Amino acid sequence: MAEKRIYLSSPTMHGEEQEFIKEAFDTNWVAPLGPNVNAFEKELADYAGIAHASALSSGTAAIHLALKILGIGEGDVVFVPSLTFSATCNPVVYEKAVPVFIDSEKDTWNMDPDALTRAFEKYPAPKAVIVVHLYGTPALLDEIMEICASHQVPLIEDAAESLSSTYKGRQTGTFGKIGIYSFNGNKIITTSGGGMLVAQEEEFTKKATFLATQARDPARHYQHSQIGYNYRMSNIVAGIGRGQLLHLEEHKALKKAIYSKYKEAFSDIPEIALNPLNKDGDANCWLTCMQIDPACGVTPDQVMDALDRENIECRPIWKPMHLQPVFEGYDFITAEGSIRDHGRKESASGEIFAQGLCLPSDIKNTDEDMERIIGIVRRCFGR
Ligand SMILES: *Cc1c(COP(=O)(O)O)cnc(C)c1O
Repeated sequence: MAEKRIYLSSPTMHGEEQEFIKEAFDTNWVAPLGPNVNAFEKELADYAGIAHASALSSGTAAIHLALKILGIGEGDVVFVPSLTFSATCNPVVYEKAVPVFIDSEKDTWNMDPDALTRAFEKYPAPKAVIVVHLYGTPALLDEIMEICASHQVPLIEDAAESLSSTYKGRQTGTFGKIGIYSFNGNKIITTSGGGMLVAQEEEFTKKATFLATQARDPARHYQHSQIGYNYRMSNIVAGIGRGQLLHLEEHKALKKAIYSKYKEAFSDIPEIALNPLNKDGDANCWLTCMQIDPACGVTPDQVMDALDRENIECRPIWKPMHLQPVFEGYDFITAEGSIRDHGRKESASGEIFAQGLCLPSDIKNTDEDMERIIGIVRRCFGR
C-alpha cells in the first residue's frame, strides 16, 4: 500500500522514559519492586489527587484484586456495564461471582442509572458495582454514587480508559471505594503493559500489594495463609510510566483536539454524531467515536471498510457483554427491567454497538493524516 499506516491509538514515547529505565539498569533494580515502582505510585496518586496507589502488572489484575479486597466470591452478584471491554467483567468470573450486565444511557454511553435502579429491584444485594468511563467520558457519577450509597454497596471505578478525565473537577478513578487505571499499549499513556489500583484507604492498596506479591506473611520463612498472585509491576515498566506521566496532560490536550477536529469536520453531516461527552466532565477523549443514523443507509461496516482499504486502522464499538457468547448465561438489565422478564431485545448499548465505530485517535496523526481520514469518511456520506 502506498500510503503510510494510520493507527487507532499507538504508544507515544518521549525520551524521559529511557532515562528512568537507564537508571534502573545502572542501579540493577530489574525486579518487580524498586525505586521507580514506589515513585510511580506516588506520582500517579499525586496527579490523580488520591492518597494511595499500588502498581500492578495490568488493569485487569487491578480489577481482580479490587474484587478480592472487597471480599467478592462465589455466587456474589456484581453489577457491570454491558458496553465495555471484557476485561471489566472477566475478573468477576475468575472469582466465580455472577456479573449482571447493565445497559447504557445515551448521554455518556455509560452505565444507565435507571437500569441500575432496576437491577437493584431484581437483585437487592449485589456485593459491588463496577462503573466504566467508556472511551474516556465520565459516567453519570452523581446518580450512580447516590444509588450505590443508598444501598450501601461499594463502587469500583474502572478508569482504564479515562486517566486524566475529570468529573466536576475531580479525577475519574478517585470516586469509588477503589479505582483502577491501565497502561496497556493503546491507552492514553502506556508502560507497554501495566495497571494501578488506587484508594483513599491505605488498607486497600496495602492489601493489593500484598496479594500481588504472592501473599507472603511477614515471616522470614516463606509462609502463606492466603492464595496470592504474581501481579506486581516491574521497576523497568514503572520507569516507562514515570516518563509517560510527565506528558499525560499534553496527550489529553492532543486527544481533545482530535475530537474537536472531527466534530467540526462532520458538523454539516447530520447523519453523524460523535460519542457524547458528559457536560459535567472534562473527558480525555481517549478515542473519538461516531454513531451513524441508521435511517441514512450508510453502515459502520462501510465506513470501516473504506478506511481499511486506505491502510487506516479503526475499530467497532466494544461489543456489549450481554451479546457475547461467553456471557450468554448472565442477566442483562435495561431501564425497562431484565430482558429475561420483559423479553424485548432492544437496548441502548446494542444500538450504539450496531451504529457506531471508533475513529483513528492517535496523537501522532498529522493534519494531513486527519484530512485523509476525514475525506474518506465524508465520501462515504456522499460529501
Ligand atoms: C484496557 C481496559 C481494561 C484492562 O486493562 P489491561 O491493562 O489491558 O489489563 C479494563 N477495562 C477497560 C474498560 C479497558 O479499556
